[in-house]
Amino acid sequence: MRPAKKLRPDSLAVHAGRFDFAELGVHAPPIDLSSTYPLGDLGAAGEELEALAHGGKPTGNGVYARLHNPTVARFEEALADLEGASDAIAFSSGMAAVTATLLGVVGAGGHVVAIRPLYGGTDHLLASRMLGIETTFVDPAGVAAAIRPDTRLVLVETPANPTLQLVDLEQVVAAAGTVPVCVDSTFMTPVLQQPLRHGVRLVLHSATKALGGHGDVLAGVVATNDVGLAAAIRSVRVVTGAVLHPLAAFLLLRALPTLPLRVRAAQANAAILAPRLAEHPAVRRVFWPGMPGADVDALIGRQMAGPGSVLALELEGGQAAVETFVRSLELATHAVSLGATDTLVQQPASLTHRVVDPEARRATGISEGLVRISVGIEDAEDLWEDFSRALDRAMVAQEVAVGR
Ligand SMILES: *Cc1c(COP(=O)(O)O)cnc(C)c1O
Repeated sequence: MRPAKKLRPDSLAVHAGRFDFAELGVHAPPIDLSSTYPLGDLGAAGEELEALAHGGKPTGNGVYARLHNPTVARFEEALADLEGASDAIAFSSGMAAVTATLLGVVGAGGHVVAIRPLYGGTDHLLASRMLGIETTFVDPAGVAAAIRPDTRLVLVETPANPTLQLVDLEQVVAAAGTVPVCVDSTFMTPVLQQPLRHGVRLVLHSATKALGGHGDVLAGVVATNDVGLAAAIRSVRVVTGAVLHPLAAFLLLRALPTLPLRVRAAQANAAILAPRLAEHPAVRRVFWPGMPGADVDALIGRQMAGPGSVLALELEGGQAAVETFVRSLELATHAVSLGATDTLVQQPASLTHRVVDPEARRATGISEGLVRISVGIEDAEDLWEDFSRALDRAMVAQEVAVGR
């Protein structure tokens, strides 16, 4: 049973999706692996299938696992609670969530306004026109001018992957007018940002990142208070089949109670590391919302509860320095992805944003010298020792390259 009193976020992270446990007599989320369900009356089963195929919620047993799964529904309920949403729809990956949102809300022939930079995969999906959707890419100031009569969605990331650009969501919502705004809030998680409070209609996460948090699950999720949009997106999931596996949903449910602790611990580490990294002579600039001067619109406190734990460095020595830096790391892992308990480092231009048009990469500051760091929850001093040693070596590589 849900407590009568509204829970504070940290309590919600522990209990959301689990309010029926006492009634069920369990202490961990039950995993339902059924691919199909025994049906009762044929007429009722047929009606249930029809309702689910159109994005409705189950009244009976869900009929078939592509239409509904109770373990996945638990994760969706928890995530909706954390975002302050009525509905959440979970997917097999973040990109499956992006795709279903585009197909459900925009559809072939429609138009999207997208603020760059975006995650490389999202940029590529839109720029390729693979879904039959046309996209106008803009910077935050260009949204209003880019809206057309056939514009069905404005897509934005804040902080953006990988430059940590911050976007004022209330300004985007105002510029979008009646067009719904979808924000990819992966870098913040609901612990640090709840975009639906700012007039945004859809909030999306790659749950592969901090929501899963342990590098062992691939998942995506979209949350909204708009029942019509939720049904449209859910019906795309039923038809296209990009469902979340119940075992993955279990791992996500297992990770959510510690989400606030992990997010705050990693953020505290980032706060120790960012100013030290900025002082290192191999580093030209540090991009992190908590750096002095980074939060020009004073969004921290108003839109975000904190700067988060992803930062980016621009190395003086460009490609040669980056290659030496990533090779010299002994504690941090050279790998794509982010939001894990361990620290992950990668060069966006070669990896996560390789598929983005080179001209757009340059225009949005994704240079060869840019390194993205997802700070983990290790001891900050161990991380600093690892980074400072690797940066010292990168500087030697830079001097050798310049001397040549
Ligand atoms: C990783 C990521 C995605 C894609 O998610 P997958 O789970 O890898 O499909 C989308 N947006 C952002 C901001 C990401 O970091």
